[in-house]
Amino acid sequence: MQDTLDVVSNWCKKWHLQINLAKTKILHFRKRNSKKSNFTFYIGNTKLEYASVYKYLGVLFNENRDFKNNAENLSKSGGRALGSLISKIHSLKDIGFTTFEKLFYSCVAPVIDYCSGVWGYQNFHSLDQVQDRAARYFLGTHRLAPLLAVRGETGWAPASSRHKSNMVRLWNKFQTMDNNRTAKQVFIWDQCLNNERGWNCQLKAVLNSVNMSNIYTNAICCDVQLFIQNQHSTSENIWFANLQNSPKLRTYRLLKQNFSTENYLLMNIPKNQRSALTQLRCGILPLRVETGRFRNEPLTDRLCVFCNLNEIENEIHFILKCTLYNDLRNLLIRNTTGSTNYEEFELFRTLVCTYPRQCSQFIINALKLRQSKFSR
Ligand SMILES: [Zn+2]
Repeated sequence: MQDTLDVVSNWCKKWHLQINLAKTKILHFRKRNSKKSNFTFYIGNTKLEYASVYKYLGVLFNENRDFKNNAENLSKSGGRALGSLISKIHSLKDIGFTTFEKLFYSCVAPVIDYCSGVWGYQNFHSLDQVQDRAARYFLGTHRLAPLLAVRGETGWAPASSRHKSNMVRLWNKFQTMDNNRTAKQVFIWDQCLNNERGWNCQLKAVLNSVNMSNIYTNAICCDVQLFIQNQHSTSENIWFANLQNSPKLRTYRLLKQNFSTENYLLMNIPKNQRSALTQLRCGILPLRVETGRFRNEPLTDRLCVFCNLNEIENEIHFILKCTLYNDLRNLLIRNTTGSTNYEEFELFRTLVCTYPRQCSQFIINALKLRQSKFSR
């Protein structure tokens, strides 16, 4: 490598070009526990410094080749992009989910997905966090809202899924690229090395995870849409299994069937109403069933103190039963189903899912009433 540096240095001297030494560093890529080289490299007479990270075409490469610094950098930039988007739309009247989604996918997602075709096989929590923050902003829920529910409501594919489909797109590019291109030669070199940490092996694992390993074995272009579909059903299955195991999402489980954008988000309901409904669905309304959790009360002690029914104050009690809200409830029924002639759970689901506008208004009014009783 020193010989090569000498060739560059001499060539530059001959043609009176100056190398920017502030931007010229040595980065020793190596395994985590192997020692950094102590060889000293020179350009002309100037000693070159060793760096642990180097930015190349916007991607941060570090000496352990794990893209951690890169993800950290992208999540910071993505966070800033999201912050600037939020500050611009915050003063507007409600912009609606479709517009918000479009803005997110054109202003924020490209930042956290930057160059993910190269590093997308790694999952970075920090990048999914940026996306979750965007979803929470739109839903109007606080930081403790369960992520499974937040993700389920928007139905957005996780950032890490997009990163993997970008790898597949890059793979397709290589399949049709001329063999003389430098990038293609590096690709072939990596393929021959068959190193488990190399890009090719990682891509093989990504394809394998959705039962599409034949793409790799036969070295053919991948149908990206099909890949995304397979990925979606795999992540939907995982999401669904996790949902069944989350005690906090007792109500949500009853209401939510598919991992897709919820209808009420598309209905342009005012933000405060949307937020109230999301909180009810996610089980984070300040009812005793939830607030008692923070005080470590046993579930059976979290009874409603506003009526004589001696029931746990949960979402169904709040919407359907508590006598404190009888007047409000009569109004709700009159404006929606017209009758209570339903099985209890069916009525609950119909009110929440079929009449989100009226139901969310009920929640807001009932919470106000509940609050007024508390402060008395
Ligand atoms: Zn009650």
